[in-house]
Amino acid sequence: MKFNTKLIHAGISEDQATGAVSMPIYRASTYHQKRVGGNPEWEYSRSGNPTRAAVEKLIADLEQGVAGFAFASGSAAIHAVLSLFSAGDHIIVGNDVYGGTFRLINQVLKRFGLTFTSVDMQDLTQVEKAINEHTVAIYFETPTNPLLKITDIKAVADIAHNHDLKTIVDNTFATPYNQNPLVLGADIVVHSATKYLGGHSDLVAGLAVTNDEQLAEQIGFLQNSIGSVLGPDDSWLLQRGIKTLGARMRVHHENATAIVDLLKNDAHVAKVYYPGDPDFAGYEIAKQQMNHFGAMISFELMAGIDPKQFVEQLQIVDLAESLGGIESLIEIPAVMTHGSIPRDIRLASGIKDELIRLSVGIEDQEDLVADIQQSLDKL
Ligand SMILES: *Cc1c(COP(=O)(O)O)cnc(C)c1O
Repeated sequence: MKFNTKLIHAGISEDQATGAVSMPIYRASTYHQKRVGGNPEWEYSRSGNPTRAAVEKLIADLEQGVAGFAFASGSAAIHAVLSLFSAGDHIIVGNDVYGGTFRLINQVLKRFGLTFTSVDMQDLTQVEKAINEHTVAIYFETPTNPLLKITDIKAVADIAHNHDLKTIVDNTFATPYNQNPLVLGADIVVHSATKYLGGHSDLVAGLAVTNDEQLAEQIGFLQNSIGSVLGPDDSWLLQRGIKTLGARMRVHHENATAIVDLLKNDAHVAKVYYPGDPDFAGYEIAKQQMNHFGAMISFELMAGIDPKQFVEQLQIVDLAESLGGIESLIEIPAVMTHGSIPRDIRLASGIKDELIRLSVGIEDQEDLVADIQQSLDKL
């Protein structure tokens, strides 16, 4: 099956009992057992739920892993995956990660004795140098949030394998439509399914996938033990969202290409960050490891122009956190999504106060271009 067919028919796409083409929402918390100790497939919905299992199987198929796990949020998925490790273990983390991941690492996991080194993942010598005798894993995003930096997944996975480390990739920005980290050598993929996979800004969810049976068993154990599972209603909504991922991503990408063109040619714009722009630092690697370049764009306006004025003047593009929805969303990371990162650390990783992040939606291209143009013209 090819990718767009898989979106609709892979995983468990039909109800086996009735043939319903949409998986039913099984709200039951528990299941009638025929006899004591019969080891039934379903026993309690934290441990397993048919609606959740359908979306878990689907994401495993899409990421080409052996097992998928659905969580109450992307943060819950990341927490469960990093719970594979123990006090004293050391993890290398990309220096440009989602603000909430930064907070989880620094304000929660460090208290449990995990140690972290933040590294510029574009510099493979730095990655290798950061490895010590306690290192167990390398964790990063590509493209990153919000600078869209591209990390060579295969190169990092090769380094990791040489040192017997696990490679964990947050694939939220790319989605399996654009990129399959497991195929490139990663061991675990995590997603904030709140974003492109759900796709409609009406759901908070997280996913994890691995292609290693032993890791699958461990993540399954942690999912059940920690208990931050995705409920059946949201599992159903997520599966419905995923079915149209390909159709949405094609339009997201077309619109993003037009907007990058507009921004690059406007005198108010100082710098554009987009992996599909041949002038962008990560372009060559992005071209190798991604099918398309996605629809996240970051940019900076010329010195002295107030980014708040620009975003507040927009009429169609919504000023909001989050990304990956059908509606175009714009925000200023320094004071919104990445506000939880101390300013000096944020500036050191390149996220300036004036940086603007745009998640390009699937509205008509003419309307989006006109909206952005009218706001630029008023600056
Ligand atoms: C949003 C996001 C997360 C966190 O996911 P939630 O669903 O909000 O918990 C993690 N990683 C990236 C790249 C994100 O954009």
